[in-house]
Amino acid sequence: MPLSLPGYAGDWLERGLDRQLRLAVTGLSRAGKTAFLTSLVNQLRHAGLDARLELMGCVREGRLLGAMRQSQPDLSVPRFPYDEALASLEGTPPGWPSPTRGISELRLSIRYKSRAGSRHLFGEQRSLTLDLIDYPGEWLLDLPMLQLDYWQWCEQMAGQLRGRRRSYAEDFLRHAERLDPAADADEQQLADISARYADSLASARNEGGYTWVQPGRFLLPGELDGAPVLQFFPLPAIAEHSRTALDALPASSNYQTLARRFEHYKRTVITPFYRQYFRRFDRQIVLVDVLSALNAGPDVFDDLRQAIATLMQSFDYGNRSLLSRLFQPRIDRLAIAATKADHVTPEQHANLLSLVEALMAEPLRDLRYANIPVRALSLAAIRATSARQVEHHGERHAALKGTTLDGEEVLMFPGEVPSRLPDADFWQRQGFDFTAFRPAPQAAGEALPHIRMDSALDWLLGDKLR
Ligand code: GDP
Repeated sequence: MPLSLPGYAGDWLERGLDRQLRLAVTGLSRAGKTAFLTSLVNQLRHAGLDARLELMGCVREGRLLGAMRQSQPDLSVPRFPYDEALASLEGTPPGWPSPTRGISELRLSIRYKSRAGSRHLFGEQRSLTLDLIDYPGEWLLDLPMLQLDYWQWCEQMAGQLRGRRRSYAEDFLRHAERLDPAADADEQQLADISARYADSLASARNEGGYTWVQPGRFLLPGELDGAPVLQFFPLPAIAEHSRTALDALPASSNYQTLARRFEHYKRTVITPFYRQYFRRFDRQIVLVDVLSALNAGPDVFDDLRQAIATLMQSFDYGNRSLLSRLFQPRIDRLAIAATKADHVTPEQHANLLSLVEALMAEPLRDLRYANIPVRALSLAAIRATSARQVEHHGERHAALKGTTLDGEEVLMFPGEVPSRLPDADFWQRQGFDFTAFRPAPQAAGEALPHIRMDSALDWLLGDKLR
């Protein structure tokens, strides 16, 4: 029997629209992007075989058939190193994959059966092309710079440099405070002070655990490593000079040279990222390592809160937002996930989720999301521990069993996760002990163990697999 035209046209339209999805994964460095993407690809490739994905509707309905890797469309973007990541996890001893440090991409084609409908008694086979893009969350920290000129940026940074992370910036401050804004610029001197600035950001990040840095690219320059476009820094003593006097300085002065480089950075680094990549993402998951911040103490935790608020500005689609005005992005679904949930015992997972929700509450309210659905999650991309019960003085307690990075087997209770933003009382008790674990030994060709990756996949892809 010939198909009636409206039904046929409907089918055609549905397929045409739903065949492709660009899903971006981001998070600040060490949030768990590489582990997440490795696990995501692994779970989908093992779908219909040994992957545990019961929280995906299409898996429960027996409709997810599997996924295959395809060659990626954009040959100028590095490939996400999936095979290398898997080789580390399957090594002896197993190791975490080396983190990616720039943007990378991977394309999968997912095969599934459509839901049986009135016209199709049995669902027909379809495929969804999924482009996965991984990029550093640090790059999103730069968005607010587009609204500032160099003078305003120096003013903002001066406060931060002298704040709680001053100890990491001492060397930079000593050199930058001595620089005369009116003197003729000396290339070598500016390159030297820029390197000290970048070092101060790196040690605040690596030694102190602080995440809010600007420019974010200085930490993860990607292909711009060593490029002159990164050779600028804020003048910490800006307040001692009048803005009018600085504006009147000749083009060859330190101040004018740095201001020009600042503008150049905005134009040639920040803007192109949003234009070429960000604007083309359909969906986004932002990964947040809440547990490490909780472990590091109140200053670092508060800093993470600020970093997240800044990062979220890139998802502010309000009509008047900077982002909408400049780039007209099209992300239609967003997930925010607390990673490494296998670092806490299962009964703490609900608290971890409430804590992420509490962290997001303010940015979400302020940023007028209204029209993009957002979901908070907690997950472990690659579960490295197993949950146990131990008896102590006749009582049963939850515990975790795992192997530390040094290869020592431990049975421990890491502590309680607060369900709200932690208060002074929590910090006084300092009841949290975050130990890094080695991934569990992994037989070659087996699906990676995880916690709630299927829930994340269901939220991010489920509606496209109908
Ligand atoms: P990236 O910098 O965002 O790509 O972060 P990675 O994916 O490289 O993760 C950084 C580190 O966090 C890893 O080396 C692991 O030690 C740890 N990690 C990441 N994901 C998990 C997870 O699901 N479970 C556990 N236990 N550790 C994780």
